[in-house]
Amino acid sequence: MLRKVVFVVFDGLGDRPIEALGGLTPLEAARTPNLDLIASAGICGMVYTIGRGVMPGSDTSHLNLLGYPPSEFYTGRGPIEAVGVGLRGAAGDVALRGNFGTVDSDWVVRDRRAGRIANATRFAQVIDGITVEDVRFTVRAGTAHRAAVVMQGQGLSSQITAMDPKEEGVQVRCCNPLYDTREASHTAKAVNAFAKEAYGRLRDLQENREREAQGLLPANFLLLRGAGAFAQVPSFRDRFGFRACCIAGGGLYKGVATLVGMDLVEVEGATAQPDTNVRGKFRKAVEVTADYDFVFVHVKPTDSLAEDGNFLGKKDFIEKIDAAAEELRKLADDVLLVLTADHSTPCELKKHSADPVPIVIHGRGVRTDAVKSFGERSCAQGGLGIFDGDGVMKEVLNLTARTSIFGS
Ligand SMILES: [Zn+2]
Repeated sequence: MLRKVVFVVFDGLGDRPIEALGGLTPLEAARTPNLDLIASAGICGMVYTIGRGVMPGSDTSHLNLLGYPPSEFYTGRGPIEAVGVGLRGAAGDVALRGNFGTVDSDWVVRDRRAGRIANATRFAQVIDGITVEDVRFTVRAGTAHRAAVVMQGQGLSSQITAMDPKEEGVQVRCCNPLYDTREASHTAKAVNAFAKEAYGRLRDLQENREREAQGLLPANFLLLRGAGAFAQVPSFRDRFGFRACCIAGGGLYKGVATLVGMDLVEVEGATAQPDTNVRGKFRKAVEVTADYDFVFVHVKPTDSLAEDGNFLGKKDFIEKIDAAAEELRKLADDVLLVLTADHSTPCELKKHSADPVPIVIHGRGVRTDAVKSFGERSCAQGGLGIFDGDGVMKEVLNLTARTSIFGS
């Protein structure tokens, strides 16, 4: 009887044929004996992680794959980033994400990342707790130049525009209400007042004077975007009955996992960079199946290498995954193993696409098919067929004989 699940998402794994790889995708071109063995022994298919023709964001596609349809549970990126850096929000609070950047005295953006500042903790501290228009702003630094903000107060709305113009050489945008409601107008007014107060504090900060003296760009503005309201999200355990944990290096994925109430399990060297310790993550995943029913593992570099157009790097990294996948063969025989991706990132596009992604589900007693390798072409011939991302957890519940919440 299958009782536990290891659920591995390779970010942006799917790709398109590349001429320089002999018309194969990086996954097809890579030498992957271990992944092929899993595909041979399991059942394969292709997944449109959100739906056919929809280009997925990493946040919404993860929610959908994990059984939380974005239409019901996603209000914006802000809350995911906020929980990812350890902030909590209640219903009625609004969260935003932001970059510490550099602006001139007219608020024209000189650098959206303050020269890719390595650590923004001190800058976040200086503007943490600002209260304007009866709204309190809690600010925490994320990785590098990133930060998350939670707004608490009466009558807030996430229906506001971004301040971040997403380009340099133009002025910071005024935050405006998306709709003509009192709540949205009030929230936008508070965000603008916060930005002004934060700029004043950051501009005069000793650390920024020192940065300028060293020829570095000051981190004098928090460019906000991605407003979202905190929704009531049932925990993974309440929704599916699984005690769940997450092994990930990237903040966004830890944020998604935290949002759905998974514990975070740390692995040394899990950097979300190509040097990341994939073997350590797989080894840890096997180990923690002793304590958890559901282990979500996220592996990032397949996506970042593809966004750089580095198809050889992506292929090499897939071979590194394959070598590490030896560890997965040590899983006990009551564990269901799922290998898939959150979207395709074709190296020639250097961005996400709506192409479906391969999936393999492997476990004792699970049906198999004729597929002998883990790849886009081969999995398209698999027994699972081509289906939408909300079907993945349905299959997992079916195969682990859990009660489905998706109707009888
Ligand atoms: Zn992604």
